[in-house]
Amino acid sequence: MRSQQVCEYQSEEFLMDTLVSISTYGTDTDLLKLATEEAFVEMRRIADLTDRFSEGDSLACNASDVSRINKMAGIEPVTVDKDVVNILKLAKEYTELTNGAFDITIGPVMDLWGFGQEKQKVPNSLEIQKVLELVDSKKIILNEDLCTAYLSQKSMSLDLGAVAKGYAVEKAVNILENQGIKSALIDAGGNIRVLGKKDNEKPWKVGIQDPRDTSSLVGILSLVDESAVTSGDYYRSIEINGRTYNHIISPKTGFPVGDNMSVTVITKDAFTADVLSTALFLMKSQQALALAEELEGIEAVLVNADQEILMTSGLIEKVVIK
Ligand code: AMP
Ligand code: MG
Repeated sequence: MRSQQVCEYQSEEFLMDTLVSISTYGTDTDLLKLATEEAFVEMRRIADLTDRFSEGDSLACNASDVSRINKMAGIEPVTVDKDVVNILKLAKEYTELTNGAFDITIGPVMDLWGFGQEKQKVPNSLEIQKVLELVDSKKIILNEDLCTAYLSQKSMSLDLGAVAKGYAVEKAVNILENQGIKSALIDAGGNIRVLGKKDNEKPWKVGIQDPRDTSSLVGILSLVDESAVTSGDYYRSIEINGRTYNHIISPKTGFPVGDNMSVTVITKDAFTADVLSTALFLMKSQQALALAEELEGIEAVLVNADQEILMTSGLIEKVVIK
């Protein structure tokens, strides 16, 4: 009997402020196409739920769940999608793990700097002090039974930039799997998730970008059924008066952190990888490495501020350093 030929189906869409690409492999092209389209529908749904700049009037019926939660801060709980409750619940756990460095209520600080907006500025210390009082994940009140979320202080706001992409990627992979796809790669701007092996045959090879030369790689990872997500100071940075500021901000100082140039986390699912890459980026390199080493099923590659490469011991089989 003649074996059917494995083919690739690839599709791209601009979502969550980045180009998302899905590549699937299999013998049934119609199935690859259908599964990919459904995966994109799911990603778009998560993007729409979590977009905090969804429109001007955050109470409009087409407002995202995150916009409505932010608008209702200090007023009343908002009924939201189960996925939003899930994201908030899981993200809150990492605030404790990082002693408050990772905190999705960073919204007011991001706004003060002007990230995601037309104009940016370096805030003065008084302004920073004022907004830092609004950063506190303990004030995210969730009711899982009623599916509600509430920020208990007025002017607080959620920013899910560190986590939503990974969550959406993982949901998309679940859709592909449920459709019977055995081999796929999703790339959402630094968020990589692979399903099975490439062509069902060999591990996927995924490069870790050199943070100071984006045309070079610091290493190549071999992945099977895993995710690799990078947080880097070269993504989404802003320039003010000739100085570059990165987009990951310490809730202690209100300023971008500078201990790492990039952190790549490798683990089974894209959501954990996304949360942790940002969380470890916020920590001192050695502490971040120690935490990654301690956590089960987590591997990490860090490029520290001196451009040295640090990695967890379990990676030796998985990475080729260039
Ligand atoms: P990522 O690219 O996944 O590392 O996420 C970076 C994004 O996370 C930023 O663009 C902000 O939206 C958000 N963010 C910035 N600082 C923090 C922080 N301290 N804790 C949680 N999220 C943050
Ligand atoms: Mg992240």
